[in-house]
Amino acid sequence: MLIPLSKPGTTTDIKTGKWKTHRPTVDPKLCTKCAICQNFCPEGIMGTPREIPVIDYDYCKGCSMCMVECPFKAITMVAEKQEL
Ligand code: SF4
Ligand code: SF4
Repeated sequence: MLIPLSKPGTTTDIKTGKWKTHRPTVDPKLCTKCAICQNFCPEGIMGTPREIPVIDYDYCKGCSMCMVECPFKAITMVAEKQEL
């Protein structure tokens, strides 16, 4: 999709999730719904605080911040399948 130069880029127009090489995956058995990951996610795309995170993969950049900050090791990064 071409973005008109008359306005700044926006993640509403561009699905930045295509950038990631790994996607975070939450283990609901380990998650305590503490919301720490949701507070650290720079994209704000981890669902409702105090619920098991529901990640919007269309906009998740795979930065791993959520995995690093989760104190319960409930998030793992899984390699994306390559598109041929
Ligand atoms: S930081 Fe970990 S335990 Fe807390 S809500 Fe996120 S995934 Fe769940
Ligand atoms: S990998 Fe980064 S962008 Fe994706 S959900 Fe975790 S903190 Fe947010």
